[in-house]
Amino acid sequence: MTPVESIQTSPPPPSFYGLSREQLATHLGTHGLPTFRAQQLFSWVYHKHERRPGAMTDLPLAFRDRMGELCDLRLPPPRAVLASPDQSTHKFVLELDGGAKVECVSMRTARRLTFCLSSQVGCALGCAFCATGLMGLERNLRTGEIVGQVVAMGDFHRWEDDRFNIVFMGMGEPLANYASLMEAIRILRDERGLNMGARRITVSTSGLVPQIRKLAGEGLQLGLAISLHATTDELRDRLVPVNRRWPLTELMAAAREYGERVGRRVTLEYTLLAGVNDGAEDADRLAEMARALPSKINLIPYNPVPGLSWKRPERGAVEAFADRLLPRAPAVTVRRTLGGEIWAACGQLGGLSV
Ligand code: SAH
Ligand code: SF4
Repeated sequence: MTPVESIQTSPPPPSFYGLSREQLATHLGTHGLPTFRAQQLFSWVYHKHERRPGAMTDLPLAFRDRMGELCDLRLPPPRAVLASPDQSTHKFVLELDGGAKVECVSMRTARRLTFCLSSQVGCALGCAFCATGLMGLERNLRTGEIVGQVVAMGDFHRWEDDRFNIVFMGMGEPLANYASLMEAIRILRDERGLNMGARRITVSTSGLVPQIRKLAGEGLQLGLAISLHATTDELRDRLVPVNRRWPLTELMAAAREYGERVGRRVTLEYTLLAGVNDGAEDADRLAEMARALPSKINLIPYNPVPGLSWKRPERGAVEAFADRLLPRAPAVTVRRTLGGEIWAACGQLGGLSV
């Protein structure tokens, strides 16, 4: 009889990008390493943007040699990077462990660089005009996969801008992946890491009321954007099905609580669909709703999604809608459509296979 050999396999090392500095210190401690190494590693990766252990010259050679077994410094590889013709917008298709693909977008205007991050692969909420919604939910992203998007896009832009904004407006409903989202935000905010101020991070939600309340209690000045898109429950039930669970009165009460508690205006996102929600009465009701809380309205002319038959209103109709809102609503902006040529505009992620 041959004895059965037991092969000792150690679990794969955790992703560096999924660990807070404290968690990394504890992790290194369990391997008998001094905890201050965590701070040094954070500095190499998040300040000096250096991920090759061989180049981390102030770390002992033995530590550098062991890095591969301690933590995984690899980023999800980009399967495609698409640039808009004017180079202002780039869409990244990153391949995750297990083969799932996730998309994220960088947008540069004269004033700032913004990274639009995904929180899930696909989305379960099925909004009627959204390409990601058509995919259904594949899975939640892990913390490291959220932070990894920032590092991958920062690298691509060679960290030229030390200040950038983050919006969770990519694939998925961020508040449906609450724990990983908050862990990622904690890592992004670390002053010994990327040192992102909470004010420079905005979370967009289709309206998960309990999580909005929870977010209001985090003691962070995160921006909150609510995907409103309709001013009556009848229409919103159709456009944003999660409205059937938390209708407008409850949603607006939670949004108001957030704005007042956090001391920031809540953005009300309103995707304009021709002949559906772009009438004068819609504008009047929207202005009224916006006045009930510290808010600003962001109009998003619909971006076409293959297979869906909604129409974007003519430019004149968008202007007329904004003009009707303006005297009564606290603040109104019209979102410039960046990235439409590369299917990277709002609601188009997941709509193109590469
Ligand atoms: N899941 C989050 C973040 C998503 S995307 C949320 O729903 O809030 C950012 C915004 O784009 C949301 O307001 C979303 O409703 C909107 N959107 C989705 N599809 C769109 C489309 N085809 N055209 C314009 N806006 C769209
Ligand atoms: Fe999901 Fe947001 Fe798309 Fe709705 S709009 S399906 S919540 S990603």
